[in-house]
Amino acid sequence: MQTAQMPPTDNLMPVTHRPDVIFVRGEGAYLFDARGRRYLDWMQGWAVNCLGHAAPVIAHALAQQATALINPSPAFYNLPSLELSNLLIQHSCLDQVFFASSGAEANEGAIKLARKWGELNKQGAFEIITFDNSYHGRTLATMSASGKPGWEHLFAPHVPGFHKAVLNDLDSVRRLIHAGTVAIMLEPIQGEAGVIPATMEFMCGLRSLCDEHGLLLILDEVQTGCGRTGSLFAYEQLGVEPDIMTLGKGLGGGVPLSALLAKKFCSCFEMGDQGGTYCGNPLVCAAGVAVMHSLLADGFLGSSRVKGEELATALRAVAKEFGLGEVRGAGMLLALELGGNDGTQVVKLAREAGLLLNAPRPHLLRFMPALNTTSSEIAEGMEILRQVIRTVTQ
Ligand SMILES: *Cc1c(COP(=O)(O)O)cnc(C)c1O
Repeated sequence: MQTAQMPPTDNLMPVTHRPDVIFVRGEGAYLFDARGRRYLDWMQGWAVNCLGHAAPVIAHALAQQATALINPSPAFYNLPSLELSNLLIQHSCLDQVFFASSGAEANEGAIKLARKWGELNKQGAFEIITFDNSYHGRTLATMSASGKPGWEHLFAPHVPGFHKAVLNDLDSVRRLIHAGTVAIMLEPIQGEAGVIPATMEFMCGLRSLCDEHGLLLILDEVQTGCGRTGSLFAYEQLGVEPDIMTLGKGLGGGVPLSALLAKKFCSCFEMGDQGGTYCGNPLVCAAGVAVMHSLLADGFLGSSRVKGEELATALRAVAKEFGLGEVRGAGMLLALELGGNDGTQVVKLAREAGLLLNAPRPHLLRFMPALNTTSSEIAEGMEILRQVIRTVTQ
C-alpha cells in the first residue's frame, strides 16, 4: 500500500500477512485508519491494551515519566519499578520480581531460573515438561519450549531439555518425569492454541506431582494475567499457586513490559546471572503502575467479568443460531468454534465491515476486547459478527 504521504511498505521484512490498512490513531475500543475509517477492535494488540487504545491513565503516566526520567540504567533503582514490584508482590502469591520487555524474555528468564534452581538443588536437573500446542514466545529457548505445530524444525537445532506432554492428561505428564526433570511449565489457558483451558482437576494434579517430585510449577500468564480472565491472575481461579509466574501483554497496557515472578524459595538468581539494558526502566514501569492501579480499582474486575459473560452469552446465541461449535474461555479471553475452516474469511469480512477479529487457528475465532469494554460496544461488534457469519454460512 502506498499513498502520497506514506513511505513504501516493502522496506519491512515480510514476516506476516498484513492487510492493506494503516492505523494512525486509537481511542478506547476503536482504531482509526489513514483513510479515517473507524474499527471496533476485539484484538487490542493481542490482549495487550487491557484498558483500550491510548488509555488516558497510561498516556498521562508515560508523558509525566518521559519528562521526569526515562532510563537511568538497570544498574540503579528507580521509583516506578519499585512501586510496580510492590503492587505485584502485594497482590500475588509470589515474592520477588524481575522486569523485562517481552513475554518471551520473561519466559526465557523463567527457564533460566528453573535451570539455576536445578543446578543448586537437584544435581543439575534442567529438563522442563511443557505441552503440545503451547506458546511461550519466539526466542530460541521459548520456541523450543513451545508445542506450536510447524515449529518442530524451524531454526533447528532446538534448545534441548523440553519434553511435551498433553494438556489435561496427567498420565502424559507423569510418564515424562525422571531424575533430570526440574519443572513443569504451562499456560493456564492455552491462548494461541485456541483458548484451551487447563482444568482445575488437572492443575491440582500438576501441583501434587510437583510437590511429590520436588519440581517447580511455572505458569506462563503472559496472556491470562492482569485481569484478562476475570481475576487479577488466572491461577486464582484454579485452586493452585505457581512457584514461578510470568506476565507480559496486559501488564504494560500497550508498552513493552513483562515480568518474571518467583517464590522466595526458588528466587535463586545470583549477582550477575540475569539482566538487560531495558529491564525495569521507569518509563514502561510507570505504565505498569497505571495499569495495576486501574485493575485494582474498586469494581473494575467485577465489571469486566460481567461484560465478559455478556460477550460469551451473545457468542453462544450466535453459535446456536448458525449451528456453530463451542464457546469457551474466561473473562475477556474467549473463543468461538466456527465448525469449518472459514476463520480467515470471517476475519477479512469483519475487518471490511469495521470489526477487528483474530483467528489463531482456521476453525476458530479468539476475542480479546479491552477489559473496560461497554455493553453497547459488545452489541455493536456482535451485530457485525452476526452479519458476517450469515454471509459465510449462506
Ligand atoms: C504472547 C505470548 C507470549 C510471548 O510474548 P511476547 O511479548 O510476544 O514475547 C508468551 N506466552 C504466552 C502465553 C503468550 O500469549
